[in-house]
Amino acid sequence: MCEAYDETTHDDYARDAAVTFAATEIRPGTVELAGPCPRCRGLMYVPVVTGTYKSLPLFRRTAAPAPAERVEPVICTCEGEHPGSPEGSVGCGAYWLLRLTAS
Ligand SMILES: [Zn+2]
Ligand SMILES: [Zn+2]
Repeated sequence: MCEAYDETTHDDYARDAAVTFAATEIRPGTVELAGPCPRCRGLMYVPVVTGTYKSLPLFRRTAAPAPAERVEPVICTCEGEHPGSPEGSVGCGAYWLLRLTAS
């Protein structure tokens, strides 16, 4: 549960998060993605300004990029303890690209 902090990414992270993350519109034009970090499983929240990308999901990992798709870089922001994390930082260091598509 307490992985050491490591800035790392993996294809599986994006795949996992596409399945486990849920998006909620918290105000017009902004959604909050919430789900467990694919690396450390800590719950994390990612606010995303979507503009016209109102509704999710979203994640089409096989399709060629559609005009309505955008890719959002996401980094783990869980509140778990991860040995070796830089002073003042949060999360385990995992990062990946989340694909958002308008519906
Ligand atoms: Zn994490
Ligand atoms: Zn964590």
